[in-house]
This record gives sequence, structure tokens and C-alpha cells, in this order.
Amino acid sequence: MLPLADDYGRVATDLRVSLTDRCNLRCTYCMPPEGLDWMPLESQLTDDEVVRLITIAVERLGITEVRFTGGEPLVRRGLVDIVRRTAALDPAPETSVTTNALGLARTATALAEAGLTRVNVSLDTVRADTFHEITRRDRFHDVVAGLAAAQAAGLGPVKVNAVLLRGVNDDQAPEVLEWCLERGYELRFIEQMPLDAQHGWDRAAMVTADEILASLESRFVLVPDEEPRGSAPAERFLVDGGPATVGVIASVTRPFCGSCDRVRLTADGQVVNCLFAREESDLRTALRAGAGDEELAQRWVAAMATKKPGHGIDDPTFLQPDRPMSAIGG
Ligand code: SAM
Repeated sequence: MLPLADDYGRVATDLRVSLTDRCNLRCTYCMPPEGLDWMPLESQLTDDEVVRLITIAVERLGITEVRFTGGEPLVRRGLVDIVRRTAALDPAPETSVTTNALGLARTATALAEAGLTRVNVSLDTVRADTFHEITRRDRFHDVVAGLAAAQAAGLGPVKVNAVLLRGVNDDQAPEVLEWCLERGYELRFIEQMPLDAQHGWDRAAMVTADEILASLESRFVLVPDEEPRGSAPAERFLVDGGPATVGVIASVTRPFCGSCDRVRLTADGQVVNCLFAREESDLRTALRAGAGDEELAQRWVAAMATKKPGHGIDDPTFLQPDRPMSAIGG
């Protein structure tokens, strides 16, 4: 086993695999209304190519957790089969999907039967009109149905990820938490990051973890969870004495790069060692040129070694990566 170690002693064990850069929502903080120039389909890894790289990661590189993302992973036709083949690897990794839940009501059972461990659903509001304002689509009730189907299929604990936008839904944190508590979903708020395609992110306008917690504390008593956090990005708090918790992923104001254990594979076969990395390492070209598993594993190890100590958002020289979150894999 070759560990995916970097020069700062961190070892990646959590692989985020983007299966497509396409999405059926147009969240204002992610994509422009007209969408983006999608990746040419011939650049996209085939199902067999994706599974081959995941197999190398699990069998040779110590990856123990595989999370499928995008774009929107549920729009990838081969998703259930890719999950089935990933879950059948030895040693079997934990598998999860980060999704907007559109269509999840139809696929949750098939995903569970394929061996998926759980889902993370993105939902920023529990008001249908705010949902439309943020996503530019009128699909709130589909997300609600998708969440319920995931829970009924045993894909739990179902986690909900929410981003707060100033002047749009920043006053809605307590009601989103209440809604999730009533349904047994584990809610985490994510600070907005400079990864939007439009480069519209503004540090001063961003809703901070401190503001999110203050807003929640207007209605709930929050006590830091004593459970060790490990490499988890979310700081967790017991709500009203627990056992329910709420998390805050403060990537910008309280970065957790020192304990990062993540690595990303884009839908076109590039290894990205940090969400904010400006360099990518191309595995697709080598794979299609006939490289063996050992060579691909070595290339992957080399790609990780150069991981920077931190994302550098607060550095005056910070530059957003060329590709947006939807193309890297959120
Ligand atoms: N389509 C899937 C979904 O909605 O979960 C997976 C991809 S999406 C890019 C993954 C997560 O990234 C979502 O929770 C979304 O809200 C979040 N996201 C997108 N742009 C973001 C940004 N600029 N800052 C913080 N989170 C962002």
C-alpha cells in the first residue's frame, strides 16, 4: 500500500469523485443562469475508467471513503453501477453521494441496494420561494421527496448541507435547523467559498460561522460536541442538550487544512489535491495511453506530494482556481 501522503504529514484517505460537471440547478453562488460550457463528453472518464481509478485508489493507495459528487452526480446515467462496483471492492470503502436530491426519490432504493452507505443533500432553505430564488428552479418539493426517500431506503444518517447568502436566506438558519430536527436529518452549514464560476464571491458579504452560530443561538442552546472531530470539516454542536447535532463547516474563517484527509478526482480524470489548488495532475492521458495500475498509482502519489499547507484564501496573493466548484467536484 502506498499512502497518499504530502510533505506536511497529511495522508489522504477520503476520495471525492466528480462524475459530471453538469447540473440541473443553477444556484446563484455556483453557476450563471445559462449554465457553463460543459466538459466535452470525450474528455469525461467512462464508467469503466472511473471504476478503474477508484479501484487503484482503494486497493493500492489507502482510500477508505469514496464520495460521488459533481456537478450533479444523479444526472450521470451509470451512477448506480459505479456505486455497485465501488462498494464491492475489497477492502470495501464507505460510499456516499453529495446531491441536490432531484430524482433521488426514484433512485434511492437502487442506490441503497447497490451498497451506497449514505447521502449528503444540499438544501439551503425550507421555503419554496427562497429555493426558487437561489436555485433558479421550482423544485423544492422534489428535494423534500428525495430526502424522505433516502431516509426510507436506509441511506442514513441523512446529512443536509446549507449555504447562507446575505440578504437571501441568512435569516433562515433556525427554521432550516428546526425542519431538519423534526425529520431526523443532520444539518451542516457551509461558509460560502470563492469557487463560483462568476467570480462573484466577496469576503465582506460572506455569512461567517460566527454569524451562523449567533443566529442559531437565538432559538437553540448549542454546546460544542465533545466527540473528537478528527479530520471532519464540520465543527459540531449538540442542540438543546442533544443527541441531535448541527455542524458548521467554516472553511474560510476557521480553516481546517492541517487535518485535511481529502483528495479529488475530476470527471475528466484530473487529480486535484485541494479544492483551491491551481494545478491539476492528469491521470486520464496516461490511462488512455495504456499506463498500468502501478504507474497510475505512482502518478497519483506524486500529485499528492505537492499539496500546499493551506488553501490561502486569506493570503493577498490568493487566486481562485481556474475551474469552478461544479467542475472540480464539491
Ligand atoms: N450537485 C450536488 C449538490 O448539490 O450537492 C453536488 C455538487 S455541489 C457543487 C456540492 C456542494 O457545494 C453543495 O452543497 C453546494 O451548496 C456547495 N457549493 C457550491 N458552491 C459553493 C460555494 N461557492 N461555497 C460553498 N459551497 C458551495
